[in-house]
Amino acid sequence: MQLLRDATIRASIRRRLLAWFAEHARDLPWRRRRDPYAVWVSEVMLQQTQAATVIGYFERFVQQFPDVAALAAADEQQVLRAWEGLGYYRRARSLHRAARQLCRDHAGHIPDDAQSLGRLPGLGRYTVNAILSQAYERRLPILETNSRRVLCRLLGERGDPAAAPVQQRLWAAATALLPRRRIGDFNQALMELGALICTPDQPACARCPLARHCRACRQGAQADIPRPAKRPPVEEVNEVAVAVWRQRRVLLVQCPEAGRWAGMWELPRRAVTARSTPDRIAHQLLSELGIDADLGPQLTTVRHGVTRFRIQLICLEATHRRGSFRPGLYPAGHWVAPPELAAYPLSAPQRRLAQALAVHCH
Ligand code: SF4
Repeated sequence: MQLLRDATIRASIRRRLLAWFAEHARDLPWRRRRDPYAVWVSEVMLQQTQAATVIGYFERFVQQFPDVAALAAADEQQVLRAWEGLGYYRRARSLHRAARQLCRDHAGHIPDDAQSLGRLPGLGRYTVNAILSQAYERRLPILETNSRRVLCRLLGERGDPAAAPVQQRLWAAATALLPRRRIGDFNQALMELGALICTPDQPACARCPLARHCRACRQGAQADIPRPAKRPPVEEVNEVAVAVWRQRRVLLVQCPEAGRWAGMWELPRRAVTARSTPDRIAHQLLSELGIDADLGPQLTTVRHGVTRFRIQLICLEATHRRGSFRPGLYPAGHWVAPPELAAYPLSAPQRRLAQALAVHCH
């Protein structure tokens, strides 16, 4: 923070960053329309996801749900389907619930006030400030992965960025740097610099507008700042899924509330332990679902990485003999013809199973 005590330096940083942004900002669809709904949807999508991936999703999403009222009126399944492939589906469910809350409490309007926004599901300090600064020009700072990295390097902050005292220092720095005008631009510029120039590996300091003030650059410490987060070790997970056929329909079940893919749909699935076999696990699973079936051959195996898990999913086919789906393990089950699978929100590995089923049926 020492660096930011000097008003001339703060002014220089603002001027340089805003000038750089005016020249180099990417033309992203949510920047063309600064309404609070577009800012909100884009900010939620951009959490944990690169801008290049978000562009197509954002355009389709705002076309399908052009405003808060349209989003609130949609079925959760439609929202999850539109989100499918972006991952972290809790974000989509919170967005949908928040839209309903906005319709109920604010006539579908996104309020220009931090307290009301902060009460909506899924909106933390960052998202609230991003909406208010970008859509309403409120003088509020933002701090997310990219801006955090820029500020850590600019200030020479060597502490753990996840630690509370460091977070406090960074929020204070982001606040101290805010200009009087063009606040939304300034916040976006900080993030854009982190995305395009001050990247995690090999930042392009020679092209950086902040180089003359940057502590990490002066110390040659870009590789050490910010301090890398401790990553939990990768965990291998083996699972079996069963495609149970009844006539020309397959059993699809809805994932329970507590779990990774809450609200999405899937072929029934369970982890395979070292002491059991996929066949035995599949039999147990089906019997708990109230289904008696003859197990058939393996349809396919898909491999998928999600957060720290590396999942290998074996899919077995089975033919229904008797029994009806019994809710319990899963709250709902439908018998679905393969072409109808397109309407259901599925996780990435389950979508691949659905594609294998469609091919198999032809
Ligand atoms: S000078 Fe280098 S390390 Fe410092 S903010 Fe710019 S890109 Fe990042």
